[in-house]
Amino acid sequence: MTSFREFAETCQAIEKISSTIDTTNRVADLLMKVSVEELSLSTHFIMSEIFPAWSGKQLGIGTSLLYASLSKASGMSIRSIESLLRTTGDIGDTALLILKEKQKNQITFSSFLEEQPELTITEIYQRFKTASEASGKGSQEVKVKNLQFLFNSSTPREAKYISRLALEELRIGVGEGVLRDAIAKAFSVPADLVEHAFMVTNDLGIVAAAAKKGGIEGLKGLGIEINRPIKMMLSQISPDIDADIREMKEAAIEWKFDGVRVQIHKAGNLVTIYSRKLENVTNSLPDLVEIIRKHVKAEYAILDGEAVAVDEKGKPRAFQEILKRFRRKYDVGEKVLGIPIQLNLFDIMYLNGRTLIDLHLLERRRVLESCVESSTEDSKSISVDKQVITGDLEVVEKIYREALKAGHEGVMVKNPNSVYSPGKRGRNWLKKKPLMETLDLVVVGAEWGFGRRVSLIGSYTVACYDPETSNFLQVGKVGTGLSDEKLKELTEMLSGLMDGGEAGGVFAIRPKIVLEIAFEEIQKSPNYNSGFALRFPRFIRIRDDKDPEEADTIQSIEKAYNQQLKRL
Ligand code: AMP
Repeated sequence: MTSFREFAETCQAIEKISSTIDTTNRVADLLMKVSVEELSLSTHFIMSEIFPAWSGKQLGIGTSLLYASLSKASGMSIRSIESLLRTTGDIGDTALLILKEKQKNQITFSSFLEEQPELTITEIYQRFKTASEASGKGSQEVKVKNLQFLFNSSTPREAKYISRLALEELRIGVGEGVLRDAIAKAFSVPADLVEHAFMVTNDLGIVAAAAKKGGIEGLKGLGIEINRPIKMMLSQISPDIDADIREMKEAAIEWKFDGVRVQIHKAGNLVTIYSRKLENVTNSLPDLVEIIRKHVKAEYAILDGEAVAVDEKGKPRAFQEILKRFRRKYDVGEKVLGIPIQLNLFDIMYLNGRTLIDLHLLERRRVLESCVESSTEDSKSISVDKQVITGDLEVVEKIYREALKAGHEGVMVKNPNSVYSPGKRGRNWLKKKPLMETLDLVVVGAEWGFGRRVSLIGSYTVACYDPETSNFLQVGKVGTGLSDEKLKELTEMLSGLMDGGEAGGVFAIRPKIVLEIAFEEIQKSPNYNSGFALRFPRFIRIRDDKDPEEADTIQSIEKAYNQQLKRL
């Protein structure tokens, strides 16, 4: 068993390092030291996860629960903890100070300190797991007790990282890229093999353990598994789609449906549906489950598609209609089933024990077509997305116009020879849709409203994502386009995400919520750390189907800014 002290020391060291190579080396050292049984846990911990993202398991420890546990463990009042937090601005540093203070008092008042056994990584995991699984009456006490135990048994430095882990934010900047390279280094295996193993398992913990146990062969033995959802392949907007099609020579053109992405896992009669964020949404879609049972012939399969809400005539309805279905997890009564759903499948990643992501698009398409029966009486409810292979720009334009006329969002332009790359956004899937000046941005700050809206959060600082540094960079403030109802909804969502202190009614928000924002123009600006500002930003909708890392990037804002210059 590995002591948590080892883990905390690594975090501490990484916090002081600025170079990625040095960080990778430190993580690799830790991975080498950790026992094989604890490798998977440590791999997740170092990325601020307790459970693998695909598992859908939530830790569910909020700030108030954490303060209560720290208070119980130290004897300091919650009010004092909150006030200390306002000065440090960080829960980890706050926990460190609280425990140091406690230690001082203990040394002063007691003549001897009992020797405590060292906390192990497994113990931390077990306590977090027990806390997360507690439900119903008395569950709060169970959660607090387990956290309190950890703080009672930890050193101040360990407490710093336990409290950050409890909020699933270690703040040491170790993401998937660093970890992939660290696994490669620690177990002398090629980084691209680690990457491939990650794409099929969606779990770097499993990958690290396989690399340690079996090296290259261990990694090659990993494949996709039913009910371990993989990341979705993503598309990007092309600044010059015609040039891209010319370069591909021939492209696969598909209708782009405006609905909600679904990943379907079928094992016999058991059908599980995952959302774009890989949440299990099966319970809200019983009608879709029936359609799949009936029309997907494959025994074991993982399929990719878009669920669209349609009217009686099968015409697509607005995107919001289908979202209503996804939000309603429990009460799936008649009313909801009144919004019929159509499933449009466009890919297959797994069939009867075989991982298919390395096949080319056209080969996967052939397999997909052979698995889906869409020519029956209720065929309208399921189909394989039409696909035309062409290099003729006029044909593409014609399909595009038809798609818009039929009420779809546009077309997808795919490279026929491309593999399925989970989690990757690249030039193999491009989208062609009418230019709309909207961006998906993440809320990183907020301000209380005034006048009638004094008890509501009235204005939001929004930011784009920088995949190179994993930072969120501010691009503007949004306070218009919001109804009172929306403000209430957002206030509720954001009040649990406040980060550190409040100054003059302004406070930081942990980056979790994505909003779609319309604007008139992008300007260069020294006022925001992205270097850009949106002119007349306006709220359009909450994108709760997107993770913060899926927000528009600083690179796409730069591109849009340059495009805009060309148009002027
Ligand atoms: P966007 O949400 O604008 O980034 O566009 C990408 C999304 O379009 C995907 O995540 C899917 O949800 C959706 N989509 C609709 N039709 C297709 C299709 N034929 N192929 C791939 N994605 C599609």
